[in-house]
Amino acid sequence: MTAIHHLNCVKIVSPFNDNVCGHCLLINEKGQLILIDTGIGLQDTINPNERIGQYLIDLVGYKFDENLTAIRQLEKLGFDSKRVTDYIISHLDNDHIGGLPDFPNATVHLGAEEFENFKSDNPRYLKTPLNHNPIIKTYQNTDFNWFGFEARKIQADIETEIYLIPLFGHTLGHCGVSLKVNDKWLFYIADAYYMRIELNDKQHPVNELAKMSADNNELRLVTLNKIRRFIIITLKLKFTVITTLTNLTLIN
Ligand SMILES: [Zn+2]
Repeated sequence: MTAIHHLNCVKIVSPFNDNVCGHCLLINEKGQLILIDTGIGLQDTINPNERIGQYLIDLVGYKFDENLTAIRQLEKLGFDSKRVTDYIISHLDNDHIGGLPDFPNATVHLGAEEFENFKSDNPRYLKTPLNHNPIIKTYQNTDFNWFGFEARKIQADIETEIYLIPLFGHTLGHCGVSLKVNDKWLFYIADAYYMRIELNDKQHPVNELAKMSADNNELRLVTLNKIRRFIIITLKLKFTVITTLTNLTLIN
């Protein structure tokens, strides 16, 4: 049986929330480990200034705690970090990939558009999380449809059915991740919204933050509408919709 662990690998104190978390997933397939996003990494907590820079630390409101890193949480759960074989990455903002160097031999899976955006001069990205040159596998668009979304099946030596789901806007290649674990679908929407209230309350101040941090705000709003439709359509199915920056939001 495949087990799934929900990890919080980020702590941010922001004007909207004094305890913003960074939701990551750890999948355990008979001892083989797969991470979906990594949050802030061990090196970030040891050398925050060098890895992230004081400007960004102050701007975002990062608080560093070694115990929140994926590698420390994994060790606490009794896992050997060498058993992490793959990462499925929603996008390359530093608070989603700071932990990549902690598992240097694992393969990074991400959308092709996101990697192109990273390699461009887009100033939102930090280069440090990929400085160790991990193996990177990118995924182009497909004709496959997952409940109304284009879906890109992860190609790796794993049993779990996992798809990258383009949810562009926050970044130009931002993807959600859908996965089927023990016959139940889970849809990790990452930063498609920061707080679920964005789906219902267009006046909430967090909308302004989401707009400011979007590479393409128009596309972000199209994506939000797609998620709204998806929730309506799937309300009667047993789905779990989760976001990275709030506590778990469950829809059954
Ligand atoms: Zn982001």
